[in-house]
Amino acid sequence: MLKRVLIANRGEIALRIIRACRELDVETVAVWSEADKSALHAQLATRSLCVGPARAADSYLNQDAILSAAMATGCDAIHPGYGFLSENPDFADRCAQSGLKYIGPSGDVIRKLGSKAAARTLAQSAGVPVVPGSDGPLSNARQARTLAGQVGYPILLKASAGGGGRGMRQADGPEDIDRAWQEARAEAVACFGDGELYLEKLVVNPRHIEFQIMADRQGHVVHLGERDCSIQRRRQKLVEESPSKALTPALREEMGRAAVAAAQAAGYVGAGTVEFVLAPDGAFYFIEMNTRIQVEHPVTELVTGIDLVKEQLRVAAGLPLSFKQEDVKVSGHAIECRSNAEDPEREFMPCPGTTTFLHLPGGPGVRVDTALYTGYEVPPYYDSLAAKVLAHAPTRLEAIRRMRRALEELIIEGYPTNASLAHLILHDPAFIRGQYDTGFLDQNLDRLLELARTCDRMMEGEP
Ligand code: ADP
Ligand code: ADP
Ligand code: MG
Repeated sequence: MLKRVLIANRGEIALRIIRACRELDVETVAVWSEADKSALHAQLATRSLCVGPARAADSYLNQDAILSAAMATGCDAIHPGYGFLSENPDFADRCAQSGLKYIGPSGDVIRKLGSKAAARTLAQSAGVPVVPGSDGPLSNARQARTLAGQVGYPILLKASAGGGGRGMRQADGPEDIDRAWQEARAEAVACFGDGELYLEKLVVNPRHIEFQIMADRQGHVVHLGERDCSIQRRRQKLVEESPSKALTPALREEMGRAAVAAAQAAGYVGAGTVEFVLAPDGAFYFIEMNTRIQVEHPVTELVTGIDLVKEQLRVAAGLPLSFKQEDVKVSGHAIECRSNAEDPEREFMPCPGTTTFLHLPGGPGVRVDTALYTGYEVPPYYDSLAAKVLAHAPTRLEAIRRMRRALEELIIEGYPTNASLAHLILHDPAFIRGQYDTGFLDQNLDRLLELARTCDRMMEGEP
């Protein structure tokens, strides 16, 4: 096993990694920015060091500082978590060059999949269907317009380096292309320092279905079933569940096989996620592969009973996966609601502040992954994710009931969160039937927020 792991991240995912290491008797080194001096990950690791000022570019993205911290503390491995350096191939290479095991695939694999335009080509070469669109990146708006005319509108212009729903614009006709091109490009440059764009036909009313992959250095590639992440705001996930109501056993097997084929074609090692959009007619298309642990990985852990972070550590240590494809059994149903420090009434604007009071749900079948505590000040510099609340139960309807009661127990005071919006979604007939797609929240947000306001007024005694 590994001896000492540096965690190049913060928040709930840093805690998640500390927990897995503890249970495997692996020491941990936490790094923190000046804004995170009192953050839990800095307190709970075996050791912790400051790596720079609050701004992520100066601390959690500061490769020199993180690599020196790992060397100075005698670490043998680095876990990048998600976000920050987790999909940076140069960082993975630099870890390897410094004699540190990078907990994830090699720099070459990340490079192959990190450009989403190139990943499409790779998936195609493995026989995995991709959304009709460009072969590789586009040079200019004129080329985009010509191609869009061939594949048919509406289309999406997407950043090759994109992530977190950024760098993407829709065009409904040729007159939209110039604006979409400029906006997508500007956002891609601002967010990722890379303006490269490619084109995909917009799949209308799709579900977002993704498959969890685990692969070891011995050549085993296994999938752990799907997660349905179609409840999204601004193309970012809010509620995730497994299994998906949209898949039949036959379709699940076909998509699982495609996900494994895509990972194999890339020479994948470690935990990863193959993302698809599923059209209403049952056709599915690869959209990207995330070469890291995913925010919503606990959904899969609950239904499979497999600890994905421990498997990541095993694989990085050179051990084979502890299970085979036929050992993966999905049991019951799991749902995750992401509670973000943001205000759904103000276009989900991030609203960091001091956690004046915190009460976390518990009891049978409930899991909460969070780095909050009463008195904790959420810094404004990073992601707005505050807590992931999960419920696991024998059936989907029981999981929905359990999640409702978990959210009723959750109290986060000091700033707005989207928890009551999630609670309303769990009461929506379309959600309960499992008949929803990625447009659900955009189409229903105003109605749900109005319902919440009416309920609040009535609870305060107004008619
Ligand atoms: P997931 O399905 O794991 O949520 P996301 O694409 O939403 O995947 O990203 C996970 C986290 O990483 C989010 O908190 C997001 O803000 C962050 N993130 C994603 N891509 C990038 C990137 N290129 N640079 C920095 N942070 C990113
Ligand atoms: P990111 O790297 O930001 O996660 P993705 O390519 O995974 O970007 O897309 C994010 C979301 O945007 C998807 O979950 C889906 O809702 C939507 N999306 C992406 N591509 C398409 C497409 N071709 N047609 C319809 N929706 C899409
Ligand atoms: Mg994605």
